[in-house]
Amino acid sequence: MSAPSNAVFLKENPSDNLPDAGLWNRACRLRRQYWGNTVFLRGIIELSNHCRQNCLYCGLRRSNLKISRYRLSGSQIWNCAMAVKRLGFGTVVLQAGEDPGVSAEDIAQIVKKIKTELKLAVTLSLGEWEYETYALWRKAGADRYLLKLETTDEALYAQMRPGRTLTQREQALNQLRDLGYEVGTGLICALPGQSRGALNKGIEKIARFRPDMLSIGPFQPHPQTPLHSEPAGTAAETLEAMAHARILAPYAHIPVTSALGLHGNTTRLAALAVGNVLMPSLTPADIRASYSIYPGKNAEETEPEQRAAQFVQMLTENGFQPGQGPGEAWRLQNSKKVQIKE
Ligand code: SF4
Repeated sequence: MSAPSNAVFLKENPSDNLPDAGLWNRACRLRRQYWGNTVFLRGIIELSNHCRQNCLYCGLRRSNLKISRYRLSGSQIWNCAMAVKRLGFGTVVLQAGEDPGVSAEDIAQIVKKIKTELKLAVTLSLGEWEYETYALWRKAGADRYLLKLETTDEALYAQMRPGRTLTQREQALNQLRDLGYEVGTGLICALPGQSRGALNKGIEKIARFRPDMLSIGPFQPHPQTPLHSEPAGTAAETLEAMAHARILAPYAHIPVTSALGLHGNTTRLAALAVGNVLMPSLTPADIRASYSIYPGKNAEETEPEQRAAQFVQMLTENGFQPGQGPGEAWRLQNSKKVQIKE
């Protein structure tokens, strides 16, 4: 199966007005050079929407009293993980707000069970915890950790995440890397108060950290947050930021976020010309809409497993190859190739 051409994607790009076609084409070439036409699928299980933090941009913030809170049991998480296995995806992503009601030991148990019985890679996206907790989960078998910075502007970070500092977040990323996790991070495109130039500087700063995954999604105003009347990030500016990220970190896994996916499958496919990961939600249908970090998330009526299967079909119909196996970091795949040669 041949890699999709730039021409196809530029034609299909709904924004149709990328400010710099040179940047886009270069990013497309690098995507193909590092990842061919492969798209890795990760099944996300959003295991709790409780959160002790109060981030201004997020619908799960603790001050949002209008949200219906849930926390999945171990057996519910296990059922979702089995759906990921049935779909043939190589990775389960366990995601949640920073929920003090989730036991670190319970997470370790479920990670261990998924690793040993389902042989899937496990990514955690559970927020900031003590070093000992990250170590416990790593020892249980967790492969990756996703902890987005959202902005690299210190003052804006402190404003957007009350009580937290950028330094703490960066320290956490370093701890995770020291523990041997594949580490992912990311930024919000068009976060209120952040200029385009500041976003680009943030991408440059993150690229110097050499993340294994780099995520950039558009800001979406949530009605139950202080940023409810701020403008949303557009598809065009997010695609441009993703292209910038691909050029500065060509080896990184770059997901097409669900927030960008709100713009529809044409945009999703356009974004996959520079991105190489999709993460469909496998959270149970009856509660998944409550994981409303932004409005419209998980709002589709299709059953999660059926929708995830539709993603696979969409990929193959559009010249992409669904990735096989865990889809680990490029540096790990590369080091294995070197070992084989030796
Ligand atoms: S962004 Fe994360 S830490 Fe902040 S309120 Fe939302 S779920 Fe909680």
